[in-house]
Amino acid sequence: MRCPNCAGETVSCRENHQYKECGLDYVTLVNVEVIACQACGARGAVIPGLESLHRVIARTVAQLPWCLDGREIRFLRKYLGFSAADFANALATRPETISRWENDKANMSESMERFLRLMVFNQKPAEAYPKEELARRHERRPKKKPAAFLFSKKGSRWAPDRAPASPRGRPLALVARA
Ligand SMILES: [Zn+2]
Repeated sequence: MRCPNCAGETVSCRENHQYKECGLDYVTLVNVEVIACQACGARGAVIPGLESLHRVIARTVAQLPWCLDGREIRFLRKYLGFSAADFANALATRPETISRWENDKANMSESMERFLRLMVFNQKPAEAYPKEELARRHERRPKKKPAAFLFSKKGSRWAPDRAPASPRGRPLALVARA
């Protein structure tokens, strides 16, 4: 494969890739193929199975016990296939409100947030996201969100991976592995 920038020779290696392209800078994909140009230094990750990957990221984000921040709301909205205007319609609010949420200028109400989380699990919301869990998440929300969430692919499926523990016992990251 030739470099799309300079047509130089490329080499392929496998490494962990911080998947900033999804808008969430804490998502890391474990052991994916990265193509690097030997001439200009351009690098690109090869990410197969995007649909499965985005599903597991969305479900992970939708189950986080912390309030959704702007970039998470934007990721989930896009995952659900909504434009900002359609999303405003779906939530019976105004596009300006969506913009304030996504730019961290205003917090979603708890009910709006819960509805968004449920939409991510809309195939089987009752099973996938039971009421008791929802209530508990709001009551006992851990103080600190991990700095990274890792996902890896085994075979054809992406899945969360378990995080390495920090010296103090708190996970350094939530990791995903299929
Ligand atoms: Zn190049």
